[in-house]
Amino acid sequence: QAKYAGRDAMRFFNPQMQADAQIRAELEAGLWSALEKGQFVLEYQPQVRGSAKVIGVEALVRWRHPERGLVSPAEFIPIAEENGLIVPLGRWVIETACAQLAAWASVPGRAELSIAVNVSARQFLQPDFVADVLGALERSGACAQRLEIELTESTLITDIEQIIARMEVLRAHGLRFSLDDFGTGYSSLAYLKRLPLDQVKIDRSFVRDILVDPNDAAIATMITVLGETLGLVVVAEGVETEAQRDCLLQIGCRAYQGFLFSRPLGAVQLEAFLDAMSPQAAAQSPR
Ligand code: C2E
Ligand code: MG
Ligand code: MG
Ligand code: MG
Repeated sequence: QAKYAGRDAMRFFNPQMQADAQIRAELEAGLWSALEKGQFVLEYQPQVRGSAKVIGVEALVRWRHPERGLVSPAEFIPIAEENGLIVPLGRWVIETACAQLAAWASVPGRAELSIAVNVSARQFLQPDFVADVLGALERSGACAQRLEIELTESTLITDIEQIIARMEVLRAHGLRFSLDDFGTGYSSLAYLKRLPLDQVKIDRSFVRDILVDPNDAAIATMITVLGETLGLVVVAEGVETEAQRDCLLQIGCRAYQGFLFSRPLGAVQLEAFLDAMSPQAAAQSPR
C-alpha cells in the first residue's frame, strides 16, 4: 500500500530515518535509568586567556553508555529536553560542578578557577531552579563567584522579564552569566543590551572559517567590539589553530576555548593539564 500513499509515506519508510528513529528510541529508553545508574560523566574544557593562562573550564556532560561508549550531548540533550530528564540531569551537572569547585578551593593555583555549566531553557525556567542552585552551592561549600551559567538565546524567547529577574537573583548571590553560541539565535542585540551578563561566547561557526570568510571575520569583530563596549568578557569557541587564535587576537578577542588548547578532559586528565600549565602563574594573577 505504501506504493500508492504518496511522497509523505515514502519518506516515512526511508530506511535511514527509520534507523535514526530506532537509535533515538533506544537512547530514550536508556536515558531515564542512566542517571540512577551513574552513567553520566562530566568532562571539562579549559578556557584560556592570552596564550597560556587558564581562567576556567566549561563542564560538558557525556553519557557513558554500556554498549555505545561515550555518547555526545548533541545526541541526548535534545531528547532529555523533550522528555523532561534535563531537569534532574541538569541538577546533577550543577551538583557535580559544585563538588569540583569545593575540591579546588583549598588547592593553590586552583582556587581561582571557575566552572561554567550549560543550562537549558526548560531547566532554567523550573520554579525550583534558583533554590536548587543555591542549595547545591551551600551543600558543597563551593563559592558562588566561581560558578558560571551558560544560557543560549533560545532560553530568552520565552518570558524575558522572568528570565532577567531570575538572573538578577542569582547574580546577587555572586554567580556569573554567559551567553553561549552568540550570534546563532535571534534578536541578539536587543537581548545583549538588556540581560545582566558577564560574558558572551562567539559561536564556533564564526571561528571555523574566520581566516577565509570575510563575513565571519566581520561578525566576530562586531561581537568582540560590542561585548567589550558593554563590559563583557568575550570568549571565542572552537579555536583549533594558531592562525585562528592570532586572527582573534588581532580583532581584540583575548579569551579562547578550543582544541588548540585542549579538548574536553575527564577530571583526572584535567588535573594533569592544569599542573602542566604553570600553576604559579594562575596563582599570581587572578582575572
Ligand atoms: P556548547 O555549550 O556550545 O559547547 C561547546 C561544544 O564545542 C562542545 O561540544 C565542545 O566539545 C565543542 N568544541 C570545543 N572546542 C572545539 C573545537 O576546537 N572544535 C570543535 N569542532 N568543537 C569544539 P559537546 O561537548 O559535544 O557539547 C555540545 C553541546 O551540548 C554544548 O554546546 C551544549 O549546548 C550541550 N551541552 C553539553 N553539556 C551540557 C549540559 O550539561 N547541559 C546542557 N543543557 N547542555 C549541555
Ligand atoms: Mg556552552
Ligand atoms: Mg557554545
Ligand atoms: Mg556552540
